[in-house]
Amino acid sequence: MTMSAAVPGTAEPDPPVRVRIDWLELTCLPCGDIAGYIEDRRIVRSVFPGGIRLERGRLRCGRCGGLLFSGNSGTATSRAGIG
Ligand SMILES: [Zn+2]
Repeated sequence: MTMSAAVPGTAEPDPPVRVRIDWLELTCLPCGDIAGYIEDRRIVRSVFPGGIRLERGRLRCGRCGGLLFSGNSGTATSRAGIG
């Protein structure tokens, strides 16, 4: 009995799973601060609780109600690498 017996469909080892997060900064102009990030173009994550609120389909600052503008963007390989 050998561990290297060929099993159909498993000949190629799976490449290690690499997390890739496309992120986009959301900045509030009046506050001059980053309110949060959009991850993978669909997940909105504020940097502090209530930092972002949705109003009539627009993202607004949870502190002052100002419109949020997209700032820097990039790709991170982990949550910690965002920003
Ligand atoms: Zn604000």
